Formats: sequence, structure tokens, C-alpha cells
Amino acid sequence: ASEAPALLEIRGLEVVFGGFRALTGVDLTVRQGELRFLIGPNGAGKTTLIDVITGLTRPASGSVGFAGTSLLGRREHRIVRLGIGRTFQTSVVFEELTVAENIDLAACFRRPLPALLRQRRGTSEAVATALERTGLAGFADRPAGVLSHGQRQWLEIGMLIAQRPRLLLLDEPVAGMSRTERDRTGELLVEIAKDHTVIVVEHDMEFLRRYASQVTVLHEGSVLMEGDVAAVQADARVQEVYLGR
Ligand code: ADP
Repeated sequence: ASEAPALLEIRGLEVVFGGFRALTGVDLTVRQGELRFLIGPNGAGKTTLIDVITGLTRPASGSVGFAGTSLLGRREHRIVRLGIGRTFQTSVVFEELTVAENIDLAACFRRPLPALLRQRRGTSEAVATALERTGLAGFADRPAGVLSHGQRQWLEIGMLIAQRPRLLLLDEPVAGMSRTERDRTGELLVEIAKDHTVIVVEHDMEFLRRYASQVTVLHEGSVLMEGDVAAVQADARVQEVYLGR
């Protein structure tokens, strides 16, 4: 994977809220096809970093390159169209619509209207793929409101996949899930990473041990370390940050 070209390249990122530096001197390179985990204690700056990538927060300085173009100064919907999708901690599922309709609707979001009308036929295939990938095919015609918490998280991931993003940003996808659901999600992430580049914010060390390869540790707005999961776990600074929580 280290031979793959960089998809996301962040350099010298600074984010300031009032007088408070939420991110300082952050460099991050994510290569095409990577499944990268982003960890760090509460307040480390993980959400802020995702918000900068998706155009929600403007940095004070630094650069954010995606597939060779700068994301800085671009509006959120433009960034979505460039091929970056994210999940939020709050749900975006319409409970009265069926599972398939939710995915279909999400698949439309990325496209500008003229392209949407032209490509309308292509979406049913994207919906079928998303249903199959997430294991929700059996629920396609059920209202999304009947889904369990875990299934709903998978639906949200399916809604993103249907947009065919090059980069997916997932914020704590296994939060509140049972052990079995976590394992299914881990397998789903590994599967998705075959076609997309994925960045996952996740705290659960047990989950990381099982599914993470490359991990970036944020602490107090800076990258504390980066490496494979074994190296990260063995690192004295990382242990201190986590135990000192
Ligand atoms: P994490 O996601 O790692 O828990 P955040 O990115 O949410 O961390 O927050 C990083 C720091 O920035 C925290 O100290 C938080 O209080 C602060 N912060 C985040 N958003 C804002 C904001 N809009 N205004 C002021 N401070 C903020």
C-alpha cells in the first residue's frame, strides 16, 4: 500500500477557535486504498480534522490536497462532489422511507442535477451494491425505522458507498454496537477498503487490534505518532496519553 499514490495530503494544518488552537502543525498523508484509523483522547482534534477535510471548518493555515487539488476554500457540497463522504454521529436516515429508498436518495446527493438526470439509471446498481455490501438486502423494502441500532449504522455506511466516494470518513462506526455487530462492521470496513480509501475515527483498542493496519494518533491537536497497530500500542507516549485519561 505504501507504493500507492497519496489521495489526501495535509500539511502544516492549524485550526484556531477564538484563542484556542484545536490543531497545530498537523501533517497527514493517506494513500489510495488505505484503511486508516484515527485515534486520540477526547478533545484531541479528531472531529476538527474531519471537519476541515469536509469543508465544515476553515483552517487558519496549512494545506489540504485531495487527488491533486486543494480543498481549501471549497464549500461542503463541492467537496462531496469531488468524492469525499462522511458519516455524522447524528443519524441522517429517514425512518419512513425504506432502506433501499434511503440509499437511493443518498446516491443522488453527490450529483449535480443535469448529471443526476442522465445518470439516474446508474443508481439502481449502486443501491444494489450498497444493500449487498452492508448485508441489508433482506431489509431493502422495510422502513428504515425498523432497523436495529447496528443495522442503522450499516445503512448509513451503505448510503455513503452508494455515492461512490473515493474517500470515506467514518466517525466511530461501532459506537453502541454489540460484539457481533462490531465484528460484522470490522469485516465491512475491510471489504469497503478494497474499493475506497477509508479513514475511521475509533477509540476501541480491541477493535483496532482486530481490524486496523495503519493508525494515526492525535493528541492535543498534534500527531503524536503514526504506525501499525502493534507499534502504536507498544508506544510509551500513547500508553501515557490513554492511561492518563
Ligand atoms: P475530538 O474529536 O478528538 O474529541 P474535537 O476536534 O471535537 O476533538 O475538539 C478539539 C478541541 O477543540 C477540543 O478542546 C474542543 O473543545 C475544541 N473545539 C472543537 N470545536 C470547537 C468550536 N467550534 N469552538 C471552540 N472550541 C472547539
